[in-house]
Amino acid sequence: MEIITKREDLLAWKSQSSNQAKGITFVPTMGALHAGHMSLIELALHRGRTVLSSIFINPLQFNHAGDLAAYPKTPESDLHMLQHACCDAVYMPEYNQVYPEGIAVEHFDLGELEERLEGAFRPGHFQGVANVLYRLFKDIEPAEVVLGLKDYQQFMVVQELGRQHFPALQITGAPTLREESGLAMSSRNRRLSVAEHQQASFVAQQLMRLQEVHRTMSFETWKSQFLVFCQTLPSIRVEYVELAEQKSLRQLTDWPNEGKAVVLIAFYSGATRLIDNFILA
Ligand code: AMP
Repeated sequence: MEIITKREDLLAWKSQSSNQAKGITFVPTMGALHAGHMSLIELALHRGRTVLSSIFINPLQFNHAGDLAAYPKTPESDLHMLQHACCDAVYMPEYNQVYPEGIAVEHFDLGELEERLEGAFRPGHFQGVANVLYRLFKDIEPAEVVLGLKDYQQFMVVQELGRQHFPALQITGAPTLREESGLAMSSRNRRLSVAEHQQASFVAQQLMRLQEVHRTMSFETWKSQFLVFCQTLPSIRVEYVELAEQKSLRQLTDWPNEGKAVVLIAFYSGATRLIDNFILA
């Protein structure tokens, strides 16, 4: 596996004839890799193109310096996992390779996506995501990018970025990989104590019951029962739980008769903020 750290080496690698001929499927990450990330690499490998992953903790998308500082970093194990998965190359740039001109944040028009849910609770977060991915997409020129549906709103932000700036880019969403307990895999799970992990898993289990439960009660009834349940879990503090149209992310007050819906949630388990969602079939 090729390990690339400099932007100029990335551009040279991209221009190699085999990569030009096959095209590139790109899997961006912030490292601290787990099986969820590997499922994206596996999906990417099935496309038959050259697979490039990236590991870059993008400071622009963090709202709190403390959260950025505490973000787990496991570069040795990351490289081992990517190599083992047969990823072709990984880009691990320093900050100045991605932002050579320092912090010159561009503004992207993300519409309502930026104002709701994660956008409302993490001001500037999606501008940070759009900035880094815009730069990486420009440099890498991938034919396809593979993203996890776990970060559902981020997936929609990238679709918007694609519509506006990279119309030929194929944007693929991969299903959320969960631990046996039901908890969605996340780099942040490493920060949970045993009790926090267990209680976060209980929250995820409630979400996953939605597929059956939603036929028997309204969303508001489910939501109030869910919030009462969460109050019995001392580590858990729910930030939001909302029902939305899957395609537009427009808020819904009850299950739709037509079209798919998604329930999105953000909550703290102890000091760790987690997000999850459940797409109703
Ligand atoms: P991150 O390193 O957290 O920025 O995540 C990198 C990519 O992996 C994003 O597209 C995430 O949505 C995706 N991802 C993170 N956790 C999971 C998971 N449990 N299952 C599938 N994809 C995931």
